[in-house]
Amino acid sequence: MPLPVDHDVAIIGAGPGGCVAAALLNKAGLRVGIFERTRFPRFVIGESLLPRCNDILDQAGLIDCIKDRAYMVKSGALFVVGDQRRAIHFNEQFTNGWAYTWQMPRADFDNTLAEAVRASGVSLQFENTVTAVETGAVQTLRVQGPDGESRDIRTRFIVDASGYGRVLPRLLDLDEPSGMPLRHALFAHVRGDRRPEEAADGRTWVTVHPEGAWTWIIPFSNGQTSVGIVAEPEMLAAYPTDPKARMRAVIAGDPVAAEFLSEIEFVIEPGEIHGYATAVKSLHGKGFCLVGNATEFLDPIFSSGVTLAMESGARAASLIIRELAGDEVDWATDYSEYMMRGIDTFRTFVEAWYDGSFHTVLFAPNPKDSITRMITSVLAGYVWDMDNPFVREHKRKLPQLARLLTRMQPDSASTVDSKNVRPQNR
Ligand SMILES: Cc1cc2nc3c(=O)[nH]c(=O)nc-3n(C[C@H](O)[C@H](O)[C@H](O)COP(=O)(O)OP(=O)(O)OC[C@H]3O[C@@H](n4cnc5c(N)ncnc54)[C@H](O)[C@@H]3O)c2cc1C
Repeated sequence: MPLPVDHDVAIIGAGPGGCVAAALLNKAGLRVGIFERTRFPRFVIGESLLPRCNDILDQAGLIDCIKDRAYMVKSGALFVVGDQRRAIHFNEQFTNGWAYTWQMPRADFDNTLAEAVRASGVSLQFENTVTAVETGAVQTLRVQGPDGESRDIRTRFIVDASGYGRVLPRLLDLDEPSGMPLRHALFAHVRGDRRPEEAADGRTWVTVHPEGAWTWIIPFSNGQTSVGIVAEPEMLAAYPTDPKARMRAVIAGDPVAAEFLSEIEFVIEPGEIHGYATAVKSLHGKGFCLVGNATEFLDPIFSSGVTLAMESGARAASLIIRELAGDEVDWATDYSEYMMRGIDTFRTFVEAWYDGSFHTVLFAPNPKDSITRMITSVLAGYVWDMDNPFVREHKRKLPQLARLLTRMQPDSASTVDSKNVRPQNR
C-alpha cells in the first residue's frame, strides 16, 4: 500500500528548469508542488535564449504566453573582435530548428512562466524555502514558509531546480569543483546603448577587450539593454572596486564597447558573480534528480544556461512520468548521459572560445556554408542533433577545423592575434 504524499512530485525552485518540468508533469496528470524561496518577479541573470528553448516551451504548452509578452526577437549573434565581425544567423542552420528566439528581462520571463504553470493547476508557493531533505520509501522536504514556520512535505519524487541555491548538491554532498577556471561576471541593465540600426534586429553582440575580458550587449524590447562583462579576477584587480566605476572603466578600455556604451545610465545597480561555474558528482539518485543550474553551469559566452535548464527539466519530467507509472528507468543512460552529451558539446565550444581556437573558426575568411550551418546549430542549442558532426564528434571536429584554418591562413589578418585580442588562456 503506497504511503500518502502531499504531491506526486515536489520541485525546488520556479526558474525555467522547474517551470518546464512542472508544466509537463502536470500535463501528464501528476500532482505537482513547486516551492520557491523568493517572491516573483525577481531579478536573475541569463536573459538571452537559444532557439532550442522554443521547442521545449512549445512541448510544455508555454510558448503562447511567451509570445504574448512581445519580447525582443533574437535572430542570432554578432561577434566583434577588433576590426573583425562575424554574424551568426539562426535562419541558416544544419538542424531543422527554430530560426529565432527571444531576449528578455528574466524577472518578467520567469514570472510569466510561473503564472502560466500555476494557472494550469500546479501548486506554486512563493517565499517557501527548502531547508532539509530526507530520501527513502517516500521523500520528505522540510520547507520554511513566509511566517518562519517549517513543515514537512512528503512526495514520491523531488526535482531540484534551485539553480545557485544548489539545495540537494549541498544537502546530499553532491557538489564537485568545476573544471572551468575561475571567472568573474559584472552585469547591469542600462539605457543609452548607441549601437546603429542593425542592432535593432535583436542580436546579442559580443565584443572582446584587449586585456581578454568580453562584453555582452543584449537589447530588450523595453528600450533597455543588458550589458555584462566576463573577466579573469587578475585583470579586474587592476580596476576600481566600485561596480559602476569598474564597468565603465572596462568598457572604456574596449574600443568597440566604448563606441556604443560610453554614455550609458544604469537602470539597475550592477550585480557581480565571482566564480559562476558549478558541477556535481551525480545528476540523480533514488527518488530525486537535479535539473538546470543545480547540475552543472559552464559559462555565459554562448547563452546556453536556460536552454540546458529547460532541456533537463523536460527530459527529467518524461522519465519521472515513466518511473511513477511503474516502469524501470535507466537514469544513468537516459538522463545523465543524455544531458552530459549536450553539456560536453558546449564545453568544447566554451573551451575553444577561451583558448582562442574558436576565434580562428569564427573569423575564417570565406567560411564554408555547410560548416557554418553546423556550427550555427550548436550555437542555437541543437546540441543533441547527432547528425551534426560538430555535435557527434565535437571534441575532434572543432580543434581539427581550427588547426586546418590556422595552417591555411598562417599570416592572415583574419586569424586572431593571440597577444592582443584573444581572451587569456589559463
Ligand atoms: C553572468 C551570467 C550570465 C548568464 N547569461 C545567460 C544567458 O544569456 N542565457 C542563458 O540561457 N543563460 C545565461 N546564464 C545562465 C542562467 O542564468 C542559468 O543557467 C539559468 O537561470 C538556470 O535556470 P534554473 O531554472 O536552473 O535556475 P534559476 O533560474 O536560478 O532558478 C532557481 C530558483 O530556485 C530558487 N531557490 C533557490 N534556493 C531555493 C530553496 N532553498 N528553496 C526554494 N527555492 C529555492 C531561486 O530563488 C530561483 O528562483 C548566465 C549565467 C551567468 C552567471
